[in-house]
Amino acid sequence: MGIKIDTTKCTGCGACLYVCPVGVLELVDMKARVNEGCISCGKCVNACSFFAITLEEEPKKKK
Ligand code: SF4
Ligand code: SF4
Repeated sequence: MGIKIDTTKCTGCGACLYVCPVGVLELVDMKARVNEGCISCGKCVNACSFFAITLEEEPKKKK
């Protein structure tokens, strides 16, 4: 469960912060960071225009 944030892709735009229903995202040094409590709703994944966030739910769906 949870999300993964690729900090090399994150621009620090902050869009993901506003869509998270549980408010677990924050910006640290202009990079998004996820705190405890993510419910894997996927909203931030869709909100990110830079494809920096991915859901970690389905490990077998890799590659
Ligand atoms: S929406 Fe994407 S680019 Fe913007 S702060 Fe969040 S992770 Fe970074
Ligand atoms: S998946 Fe949902 S709960 Fe988790 S950080 Fe993104 S918006 Fe917040």
